[in-house]
Order: sequence, then C-alpha cells, then structure tokens
Amino acid sequence: MSGLFDRWRGSHAAEPATELPQSVGLQVWLDDQGQVLRLSGPLRTVLAVPSQARPRVHDYLYRHSWLVLEGVPADWQGQALDLDFHTVHGQALHTRGWLQRQAVGWLLQLFDIGDLLRQGDRQAQWLTVRQLAADMGQAVRGCSEEWLAQTTAEQLQGLAEHWHAGSVRLLLADESGWRSYACSEGDWPWADDERLQPWLQALPPRFHQVQPDSAQWRASCAGLPLLLLPYSHGHATQAWLLFAGARLPPAPEAAQALLQALLEPLLARLRQYQLQQRSRHLDELQQQLGAGWWEWPVQGPLHFDPALAASLGLPCEVSIEQWLSRLHPADREAAHMALEQLRDGVALSLSLRLHEADSVATPRWLHWVGQRHGRQARGFLLDISALKAQELQAGAARARLENLIASSPAVIYIQRYADGALHSEFFSASLAPMLGWPKDSELSRQPGQAVHPDDRLIWLERTRTLLREGQVRSRYRLRDHLGGYHWVLDEARLLRDDLGQPVEVVGLWLDVSEATEAAERVRQSEERYRVLVEDSPAMICRYTPDLQLLFGNRPLAEQLECAPEQLIEMNLGQWMSDSQRLAFVQRLAALTPQQPLSSAEVCLQLPGRRHAWWVWAERGLFDEHGQLLEVQAVGRDNTQVRHSQQQLLQGAKMATLGELATGLVHEINQPLNVMRLAVANTLKRLQSGEADIEYLTGKLQRIDAQVERTARLVEHLRTYGRRSEVERQAFAAWVAVDGAVALLAEGLRGKGLALQIEEPDLCPEVLGHEDQLEQVLINLMVNARDALLERQVANPRIRVTQHIEPGQLCLLVEDNAGGIDPRLLERLFEPFFTTKPAGVGTGLGLSVSHAIVEAMGGRLEVVNGTEGACFRVLLPVYSTN
Ligand code: ADP
Repeated sequence: MSGLFDRWRGSHAAEPATELPQSVGLQVWLDDQGQVLRLSGPLRTVLAVPSQARPRVHDYLYRHSWLVLEGVPADWQGQALDLDFHTVHGQALHTRGWLQRQAVGWLLQLFDIGDLLRQGDRQAQWLTVRQLAADMGQAVRGCSEEWLAQTTAEQLQGLAEHWHAGSVRLLLADESGWRSYACSEGDWPWADDERLQPWLQALPPRFHQVQPDSAQWRASCAGLPLLLLPYSHGHATQAWLLFAGARLPPAPEAAQALLQALLEPLLARLRQYQLQQRSRHLDELQQQLGAGWWEWPVQGPLHFDPALAASLGLPCEVSIEQWLSRLHPADREAAHMALEQLRDGVALSLSLRLHEADSVATPRWLHWVGQRHGRQARGFLLDISALKAQELQAGAARARLENLIASSPAVIYIQRYADGALHSEFFSASLAPMLGWPKDSELSRQPGQAVHPDDRLIWLERTRTLLREGQVRSRYRLRDHLGGYHWVLDEARLLRDDLGQPVEVVGLWLDVSEATEAAERVRQSEERYRVLVEDSPAMICRYTPDLQLLFGNRPLAEQLECAPEQLIEMNLGQWMSDSQRLAFVQRLAALTPQQPLSSAEVCLQLPGRRHAWWVWAERGLFDEHGQLLEVQAVGRDNTQVRHSQQQLLQGAKMATLGELATGLVHEINQPLNVMRLAVANTLKRLQSGEADIEYLTGKLQRIDAQVERTARLVEHLRTYGRRSEVERQAFAAWVAVDGAVALLAEGLRGKGLALQIEEPDLCPEVLGHEDQLEQVLINLMVNARDALLERQVANPRIRVTQHIEPGQLCLLVEDNAGGIDPRLLERLFEPFFTTKPAGVGTGLGLSVSHAIVEAMGGRLEVVNGTEGACFRVLLPVYSTN
C-alpha cells in the first residue's frame, strides 16, 4: 500500500516495481443512468473532480474509456471494465473492475491496474531488447571476416536508434590504448581517437573494474555531452560504448544485455581472428626459416609438419631408417644415438647435414631439437644452411686474416677500452722481431712506458685524439728490449658499439726508423744545400718560363733591393726592356730536355734606374712531355766588368781619335784654306771694283759649302767621342764604314795611300752600337795604313767592301802590305800585343775590336791574302721577324 502511495506522490521512477500491484480499489456508486452518487475507496482522493454539478461517471474518465461504457449501467454488466480516470496529478489512473447491481443503483468496483500495465510494457520492451540482442549476436556471428567491422557499425546504428541517441561509438583496447573499432552514423566532434585517449586514461581506475550493471557515466568531451558504458569481462573493462546526444540513459540491464550480445561474439571473433593471423604468421615464418615441427611416439615412424616434409623431400610419415638414410652418412650415427637417448628422456639438440645426391653441392644443414613429453617426443627442425655458410665464410675470413696478421711486417695490435683508458690486449707475432718485448711483459701491457721521453706528449695526444676523433696517425719512438729506440708509424682506429660507446682500438705499428733517418739525412742535406744557396755570393733563383720568380736567394734580393721573401711576388721581366725580355724569353724557349743549359749576359734596369749586367747560367727543368716547367739559374753581377770594358772602349776610342789628329787637322785645314783663298780673292775684286753680284754669290756659296763640310766633321767627331748607348740599336753596317772613311780619308790621301771603297747596293742592318763598329773599322784601316807605311810598298792601297751571306754580312778590310807573320796570327787579338815601337802601338786595337764584334754576336777574323792582310768582320743581319 505504501508503495502505491509513494508512487502517486511522485517517486515512481526510483525503483523497479517487481511485485504485483495490490488492488485497493475505488468504489463508484451510480444510479441507473450512470450518474455518480458517491465515491469511496482510497483511490477517490486522487481523482480529478469534474466541473458538472451532477457528474456522470464518464466525466471522470478519459474519452477513450467512454467506448467501454456505452449505454446505461445495465448494459455494462458481466464484463471486465478497463477505465482510465483523470487524476489531480495529470496522469491517467488505470483501473479494471466490474459492475455490481445494488439494492439501489449500481456499484462500480475498480482496482488500480497501472502497475500491471507497466509490467506488461516492460515485458514487451524486454522482448524487443532480447530480439535486438539476438539479431545483433546473430549478425556479428554470421558475417564474414572482412565485414565484421561494417556489421558492427550497423549494429551500433541499431543501438543508436533503439536508444534515441545521436550516435554510438565502440572503443576497443589494443597495445596503444583505446581505439574506435566501429561507429554508427552521425556526427562526432573529433576525427580520430587521439583527443579521447588522455581523457580515457584519466578515468579513475575503479571505473575500469566496476560491475557492469551500475556502470554508466556522463561526461563531456570536446564540448559534446557523452554517455559512457563500459563492457567488462572478469575484472577488466574490455570495451567502451560511447553515446553522443542520448536523451535518457539506457536502462542498465537492457544496456548490459545488448552490450553483451554484441560484444561477446565480436570479441570472440576478434580473438579468433587474431589467433588465426598469428598462426598464419607463424606458418609463414616457419616456411621462411625452413623450420617445422616433428613428432615421434618413441616407437614406430616419425611424423613431420607437411610443409617441412615437402621441403625435405620426404612423406609426412617416415620410418626411422628412412629418416636416417635421408641424412648425410657422417651424421647418421650421431642422429641414431640421439634418438636412442631421446627415448630415455634426454633432450635432443643436433646439427645435421642432409644427404645430397650431388656430392659437390653445398650441403643443407638442419638443426634438430626435441624433447620427450610422456609417450610422445616432439620438437622442430630448423634450416641453418645460411648460418653454417656464414660460419664457414667467417672461419675462412678469420683464417685469412690471421694469416695476414701473422705475415705482416707491421705489428698489429688491439687495445681494449675500459674506464676511459686503453689496455693492450693483443700484439701480432711481428712484435718479437721488431721490439722483442716478451709476451705478457709490462711493456706489452703498458706500451706507453716504452715511448721515448721526448715523444711522451705525442703519445698522450695520440690517445686523446683517438678517443675523440676515432682515428689517429702519429709517429714516435719506442724502446726495444735491448734499450734501442725505433721510430714507429702508428695508425689506429677506434671501434664503437651500436650505441657509439668505444669498445676497442685496432692499430698497427710500422717500423719507420730507416725511412725517418733517411728523411732526417735528406733534411740535413737540404739544410746544407739551403745554407749553401743562401750564403752563396752568386745570385741563385728559380723561375717559371714566363719569368715569375719561385725562389731567390739573398744576393738576388740585394740586387733587386727587396727582402728574399718578397722575391716570389716578382717577375724578372719587370726589370727588362721589351727587347731584352723578348730576347730572354726566346732564349728559354730554345731550351730542350736534351739541351737544357744556356748562358748569356743579360742587361737589366734595376731599381734606381741604373743598368746592371748579369752573367746568367740557366738550366731548364722539364716534365715527362718535354714541357719546360721551371728554370734554375745562377748569376753573377758583371756590371763592374762591363763598366771597365766600356771605359776601356772609350779610352781606345779616344786613343784612335788622337791617332787621327794629324789627318783631322788636315781635314779641317783644307776647307779653311779654301775659304781663306775665296775671301782673299773676293776682297781683291772688291778693291779693284770688279766684284759683281754673280762673282760674289759664287764665292760665298763655296765658303758655305766648306763651312758645312767642317761642321759635319766636327759633329761626327762629337758623336764618335760620346759614350756608347746602353741598349743596342739596329743600324746599317755600311754607315759605320762611311763614318770611318769620313775621319780617315783625308789623312790617308795625304800620306799617298789609295782608299778603295766599294759602295754596296744593299745596306742590311745589324744590332749593336754604330760608334763601336766605326771604331772597329777605324782600327782595321789604321793598322793597314801603318803596315803600308812601314813596308813602303808600291801603290799602297786599302780596300773596304761588303758581302752579304745567308743570315749575316761581312765587311772586308784588305791591304797590300804583304800580310802578317803567320807565327803572330794566333796572338794578334791578345790585349797589349803589338809589333809597333813603344809609344806608337798600344796593342789594344784588335782585342777591343774583337770584343765589340763578339758583343754584336759576330766574329772578327784575319787571313793573309795574296797581297796583304785581310780582316773580316762577320755580323748577324738583324731582322724583326
Ligand atoms: P797596335 O796597332 O797598337 O799594335 P793592334 O792590336 O791594333 O795594336 O795590332 C796588333 C798588331 O797586329 C800590330 O802591332 C801589327 O803587328 C799587327 N797587325 C795589325 N794589322 C796588321 C796589318 N794589316 N798588316 C800587318 N800587321 C798587322
């Protein structure tokens, strides 16, 4: 009774009404027309009182109940009447009752059947739930593997509709956490489960272990109100169902029933699927590994995994004899014994070879393991051919390496890294002949102790560099067992493990004592050579074919007025005129590997614009193609000698002028006499008054011609007496002949000597100094004059001619004085050789002439002709090509 009242007081949703309702009733007293006379019973208090003054029973009822009460009360007898009354609470009061005739009127006896009806509803709902659960279970069980997720999503869609939820999502756990497995249609605010993860992880642990019936949570994720339903099996939550937009929480029992119906088969299928996959993977793995199981019931035949049997070329079931015959003869006995022992319970582990028909083929290796379990022995066979092949290769490689190490002249060593230090662990056999350290001696454990005291810093740096950079190359001295030191070249490399940690050092020592000492000797000899070069008074240098200096010693630097270090920025050509540089480069171009030497006197304009002459000897260095790489040169400053020569030349020139003085006086007197005579005659005519204009003009012209002649002579003497130019010039050789004749002709004629000059048609040019060649010709003509005057021959004459030969020209000066004593011919060009009396001859004329002609690149020769001496001046013809 109290439950009923409670319900009508508004707490009807609090708990399920599992007991049958107690009809306590409502009694409605009616008249024959159905008007209500009176109400009684506890339910009357909840009825809404109609507005009519004398209400009929209909006025208390919902309209649909009027259908039940058709006509008057007398018509309603004998049947159950289901009537819904208006109540003060606004909800219908469902009643069932009967009409009973009374003494006066009728009594409608009614009972509250609301609970009965609700229970019926609930049963209907349960039926729906059960049907839905059965459908879901069937769908998930029945679908194929690939449709499982899709089918689950469809079931979630059914659930969403059933529960009037916006969308439903199923989360399953995998290694990385909760993950959406399927989802009904509908919008979710997140694309994946990333944002859900931290939220799910943050759920208090107890939620993961709550009993299913009471486990529902409301939450909000990304602003969306969520309802969560866990599915637990045992103590662990295995799945979460997420509802978005669910208006009412689903009834827990129904929810759990549906969850179970969906998830039990789904999880079972997923587990099964996983198992199948694993087994498939295992099979694949076994096939890849060439592995497989075998079984043996201790007696009788062996059974093999079909795939393994196929790979062995055996049936799945083989007798022990068949199996043994499949093995390599060398392994059969061991296999047989292992089987015997297996029967006694000893575990089997054996590496075997298969018997191949082709004996040359690489044998196939199997690892055979197994154990007895009760009446059965079981195990597996693994193909280890690849491993064995690698093992063999590694063994062979190791043997080769060991052989190499043993025969190496270098000491190969290994140092192990431990606690930040290196500890020697191995030395190859060549340690004994090299250093003679006994094995396990202190030195071989701590080689640092054998390092020469002066090299200890090198040794420490070597270890530091090795640990820092992973490799090092160094050179130091090690003490041998007799106390002597050896220079060793140490090449070491640090090996690291996978994590980059140092493991060990592999290195080698090469005895480089001899090489080091040889290098030291070379260094010392180079040092001596360097000192020699540096201290040499001669200029020593190296330069490229385009005259760029590569090296120059101090004397050269002093000449060029710079520091030796600055020389390598300089080019030798910068101190030469264009023609000098051209000549220099041309001389270098003429060098060949066969004729690598050349020497010359070169002229340079050094800083301060003074001229310098260097006597220069060069050697060209060539590459394998004969290309000139560089030039090494030694030079000596010849400027002083040159100056002396010039002075000598000048002196000789002056001496010649002195010699010519008599002739020159005559040469100047002659025009003076002509002029004096002309002046005297003119004066005479003027005094006698016979001087007409024509006469006077003639005389003055004669005087003018004589003045001109004298001026030319004086000018010629001036240029002749001047010092020679430094640079050689190109000039016509015959001009020098003309010059000499101009100075000498009058004097010779005065002494009765004939001068025969044959003017040439062509006047080729030569390179040199015109005044010097003129001096040569004067010397030759003066000597001829002296010989002719001394010998007093009849018809004395001097003949000067020019001949042109290929590439050169020849000036001939001949006389008819009878020639030179052949015994004197050899000494003729010596300085100070003269046959003339003291005070007359200097003995320098021919030696100076010889030097001049040679400086011009020519030759001065003498022969005795039929009538007298014949001097030949041979000069190279100058051409600009
Ligand atoms: P110098 O004329 O002062 O003696 P040179 O060197 O000019 O010196 O000549 C050397 C010598 O050569 C002369 O002393 C002379 O004996 C000889 N000699 C030179 N030219 C002739 C010549 N044309 N005929 C004969 N002897 C000559």
